[in-house]
Parts: sequence; structure tokens; C-alpha cells
Amino acid sequence: MAATEILSRADIVKAPEVRVVPRTDKPSLIGLLREDMAKLLVERGVPERQVKMRVSQLWHWLYVRGVSDFDEMSNVSKDMREMLKEHFTIARPEIVEEQVSNDGTRKWLLRFPPRGAGRPVEIETVYIPEEGRGTLCISSQVGCTLTCSFCHTGTQKLVRNLTAEEILSQLLLARDRLGDFPERDTPQGAIVPAEGRKITNIVMMGMGEPLYNFENVKTALLIASDGDGLSLSKRRITLSTSGIVPEIYRTGEEIGVMLAISLHAVKDELRDMLVPINKKYPLNELMEACRAYPGLSNARRITFEYVMLKDVNDSLEDAKELVKLLKGIPAKINLIPFNPWPGTNYQCSDWEQIEKFADFINQAGYASPIRTPRGRDILAACGQLKSESERMRKVDRLAFEAMMIANHGED
Ligand code: SAH
Ligand code: SF4
Repeated sequence: MAATEILSRADIVKAPEVRVVPRTDKPSLIGLLREDMAKLLVERGVPERQVKMRVSQLWHWLYVRGVSDFDEMSNVSKDMREMLKEHFTIARPEIVEEQVSNDGTRKWLLRFPPRGAGRPVEIETVYIPEEGRGTLCISSQVGCTLTCSFCHTGTQKLVRNLTAEEILSQLLLARDRLGDFPERDTPQGAIVPAEGRKITNIVMMGMGEPLYNFENVKTALLIASDGDGLSLSKRRITLSTSGIVPEIYRTGEEIGVMLAISLHAVKDELRDMLVPINKKYPLNELMEACRAYPGLSNARRITFEYVMLKDVNDSLEDAKELVKLLKGIPAKINLIPFNPWPGTNYQCSDWEQIEKFADFINQAGYASPIRTPRGRDILAACGQLKSESERMRKVDRLAFEAMMIANHGED
């Protein structure tokens, strides 16, 4: 898409009523496992014999009802609410900006406090509605320590890991804004699935490498999938990694969500250049970890992401090798048209070539959806969300071609 098209932003609707929440330094009760929440309550004088009941009450209010104000917790006594207010917060993060694309894609720019020295940080969360599902793309870090050569996030330094609260808050806030909690209204004219939940799937495909922030990502995803709370099925949560092999094993054992691998090359020599973590965890080790991933079947496949880079990894020879490499692994292949950014030396493969590549792997028996560009007008691009720390010049941002995800997780 030409940059001029991106410059015509007439269809962007700025969402009304964006609340600016005053932050406090109080610890949040969001993003804590039950036992950690219990500990905090006991420290504040809640009797041991009551604590389990109190945690269940809070859990229900926070994750089923989605409240962000202690005063809404109508079955919690006034004294208890006062105590909670004095010592804790359950406020949502600050929304700097909310944009809605004409295709219904929504993007929130959120600001989190510095956590120690430094400046506040900003991250993006993106919602993509499709027929029968709504996918939320969540960030795990501000920036990334890895330096994949085709990824814009890879050119930004890691500023910090997001906390479990900050990861989970992206989901809570999106559910607030979409009216996806009981007794909440969906904004007029919003494009959402016709029935049921507005957010049906989560993908950890925003900014950052989730497996380099393992503990916080794990906690957030365990809470998101908890059956007494947010209740998202683990089959509808997909974690995307560039291939941090030891943590792939741990993801299978300790989190149990669906896995997506940013493969992008089928030979070590090329993958070393595109995804440099490959030098540490080469393809044979990565494939071994994939084969060992628990619970794989035709209904539960690993997604392999493959960015289409002109004359780099897009030949039919590559397609052939790809099929060979994945042999025996229940797999889906996601071909991603490369999304160029200012200063990159790569180009997106020609559409014809992408189709030829897709046909080849289809014939080999793999469904290989090509990701449909979404939310172009609001620059909602997974894999290259920007951060405040190294904010691009506006003119550069506008030169982005935005591309969005589709076809992740189970229906
Ligand atoms: N760090 C994780 C998750 C975030 S990236 C990972 O690498 O898997 C989400 C996906 O977008 C990854 O497959 C990533 O390789 C891809 N991506 C990054 N930059 C891109 C670009 N410019 N064009 C297309 N896809 C890109
Ligand atoms: Fe980091 Fe993923 Fe980008 Fe690589 S592709 S630099 S791992 S965000």
C-alpha cells in the first residue's frame, strides 16, 4: 500500500470518553495468583479463616464482573472495602489514545508507570474482530532484547518487562471498552462478533518476546484462563515466540496454551541472520522442542509464522524445505506478507510469489492462510508495535504499512 493511502486517515474514529485514570503507587490486586492475593490480605489483617472466601469474592468481582472500583463490590462489607481502598488499587491503566479503524480493528495506546527509575512506558494493544471471533493482540515487553533483522521492534532497546498486572490489564481494559463484561454496553456501531463474547481469542504477538518475560506472562495467562474468572480456553490463547527452546518446554508444562513459532527460515544459515536467537537455539533443537510440545493433535496444532521476504526466503525450494522440516508435526503455516518500515532493506515478496508458495504448501496438506492486512488506517501492526522510549517521528509512523493478524488459535 502506498504511503499516500495511509495518509488519508478520514475513516479513523477517535473513540469518545477516554478516561484518564489517576495512578497511585498502591500495589494492584490485579495479576496476582490466588495465593499471593491471600498473602497480601493476611498482611492487612484479614483473618486466616476468612481469607479463602475473601479471595474468591475478589476474584469474582475482578475477573467475572470486571469491576475497577472497590465500591462496586456490593457483597463486600464497607469496612473491608475501606481497607482495600486504603492499601490497594484495581484501577485500569491510563489510555493515552484509542483508535478505531473502518474495518473495526481497535488500537489502544496505554501508559504504564516507570516501575523504578526511568520514564513511564507506552505500549499498544490491538483488537481484531472477525466473523465469529474477536482476537486481542497483547504485548509482553516494552521493546525487545532480540534483534530479528526484519522486525521494527527489534531495532528498539528493551525498556522493561511488563508486569503480570500490566499484561492482564490489556485484556481487562479491552473488555471494558468493548462492553465484554456483564451489564456493560458495547459502544454503538462497534464491530464485534454477533453473539457471545467480544474477545474470544488472545495472541501474545504484540511487542516483545514473551518467553523472555516468562514468569509474568505465565501468571497473566493462568489468570486469563482460570475457569472461575476470565475463563478463556487455553486453546484460544496463542503464545508466539522466536524460539527460546528451554522456555518452550516450560510453556508446554506450566502454561499449556497454543504455541506459534516465528520460523521465517528453513536453514540455519539464513535463520541465523533473520532471527539471530537461532545461533543459540538452532533449528534442530527448536523442532525437537516443537515435537515434544504436549497435547498436539490435528485439532491442536503449532502455528509456524513465516514472513515473506522478497528473494530472501520465498522460493519454491524454501517451500519444499519447509514441508520437509515440519514433517510429523501437527502444524499450521501462517504466511505473513512482510510489512516494510523506514530504513529496512527488505521488501515484501510479490503477491504472485506468495500465492505460489502458499499453493505448494497447501498441496502438501497444510492449511496456509496468508494473513489479511487489518487496521491499516490506524497502523495496527503486530510484531512492530512502537514504544514511547524510541518513538518514531510522525512522518515515519505514517509511512508504515500496517498488517494485522488473522487465523490464530482455535475457532
Ligand atoms: N517476539 C515474538 C512475538 C511478537 S512478533 C515473536 O517473535 O514471535 C509477532 C510476529 O510478527 C512474529 O512472527 C514476527 O516475526 C512477525 N513480524 C515482526 N516484524 C514483522 C514485519 N515487519 N512484517 C511482518 N511480520 C513481522
Ligand atoms: Fe523481538 Fe519478536 Fe521482533 Fe524478534 S520478531 S525482534 S523476537 S518482537
